[in-house]
Amino acid sequence: MQKNIKIYTLKNFHNIPQVQSAISETEQKAIQIVGNVLPFKVNNYVTDELIDWNNIPEDPIFQLTFPQREMLSETHFADMERALCEDFDKKEIRIITNNIRYELNPNTAGQHKNVPSIDGMKLTGVQHKYRETVLFFPSSSQTCHAYCTFCFRWPQFVGIDELKYAMKESELLAEYMRRHPEATDVLFTGGDPMVMSANKFEKYIDPLINNKVPNLRTIRIGSKSLAYWPYRFLTDKDSDDLLRMFEKIVNQGYHLAFMAHFNHPREMETNAVKNAISRILSTGAKIRTQSPIMNHINKGVDIWSDMWQKQVNLGMIPYYMFVARDTGAQKYFAVSLDEAWRIYQKAYQQVSGIARTVKGPSMSADPGKVQVLGVSEVAGKKVFVLRFIQGRNSDWTCRPFFAEHDTEAVWLDDLKPAFGEKDFFYEKEMQQAN
Ligand SMILES: *Cc1c(COP(=O)(O)O)cnc(C)c1O
Ligand code: SF4
Repeated sequence: MQKNIKIYTLKNFHNIPQVQSAISETEQKAIQIVGNVLPFKVNNYVTDELIDWNNIPEDPIFQLTFPQREMLSETHFADMERALCEDFDKKEIRIITNNIRYELNPNTAGQHKNVPSIDGMKLTGVQHKYRETVLFFPSSSQTCHAYCTFCFRWPQFVGIDELKYAMKESELLAEYMRRHPEATDVLFTGGDPMVMSANKFEKYIDPLINNKVPNLRTIRIGSKSLAYWPYRFLTDKDSDDLLRMFEKIVNQGYHLAFMAHFNHPREMETNAVKNAISRILSTGAKIRTQSPIMNHINKGVDIWSDMWQKQVNLGMIPYYMFVARDTGAQKYFAVSLDEAWRIYQKAYQQVSGIARTVKGPSMSADPGKVQVLGVSEVAGKKVFVLRFIQGRNSDWTCRPFFAEHDTEAVWLDDLKPAFGEKDFFYEKEMQQAN
């Protein structure tokens, strides 16, 4: 069945039929206020097929897409409320909004670092942090079919221009790859690269394939489109063309890895998503899945085991469980490292080895992706055992290290080295690199 996308933002979300009956006027005002700071956008698939409107505000998909009052601190909320109520002029409102956004510390984890250059020209749409994989932010995918309230990429959507990663020239990407024979993977990211037309996507892909970059093995696409708009692969007018592009990539011998963002088992239950998954798999692409663990959305053992099991049943491969980044509404979503690991461990025990391809809980921090292997006791001391899944220096990868156990810690910065050590083993090298 054909479905046309209807987009709702702050301007028109009052028109969503379910909003009028399920959300009080006060709550709608709170959405307006918080939505001025955090990105807000939903569509008719999310509102008609995913959100359970009988369970507002607790519904996890509602929490995932609709701004909630508690996502801002009391002070920020009050500042924003005053600005909007007292009819400040547009410019003043903008200044207040941007101040709050900066205080929420949007550009974390050294995301603005690792910007490479060719012959002195900065490639602002390229990020090369780990040897094998080059991240590419196509300028035409700086948006998504809907926005997640936890999104750490929001500076890109809200127009703080100097924070945008964007690059027009995919030829430059291909040239960069050729000059870095150690890189085997290109990861298309955004926003969501699947908001692009098939035609645009082809323009980005063509300079890379046909053996134009001999070291290229894998093309990855990081996308939330299966969860937010599965009709992208079913009935959009260029759906078939897009799938033909996937086939073309696979037929030329590349591994096409669709990195699907799913945050809750509900997102895997509609007919639309099931059909979309099977159409993507029929091109020869593989689908791997990833999600952060977040309070109010998916903090629960059964939610995770159910999610992994459903993914396996639909032919997908569970890949990463992340810890929510220290940005935006992190306090609202934060799950301590201790609890994240306990949930991971219990959920992992509930699924068979087939679903144990998932790695986590993992923090994408400045020095690398750090996995919490667990809580253990060494010589009478309770410690976190950690390791790099990916290290800034690839030699750090896979080396276990220890931190003092701390039930409050939510991020790498909160941890102290165990056994009275002054620094973690990688810190000296990090400081020299910066
Ligand atoms: C996660 C990530 C990658 C890919 O890492 P894999 O472990 O190979 O999936 C590449 N670059 C950055 C910056 C990342 O955060
Ligand atoms: S899909 Fe990804 S990039 Fe888009 S809003 Fe959600 S977290 Fe952000």
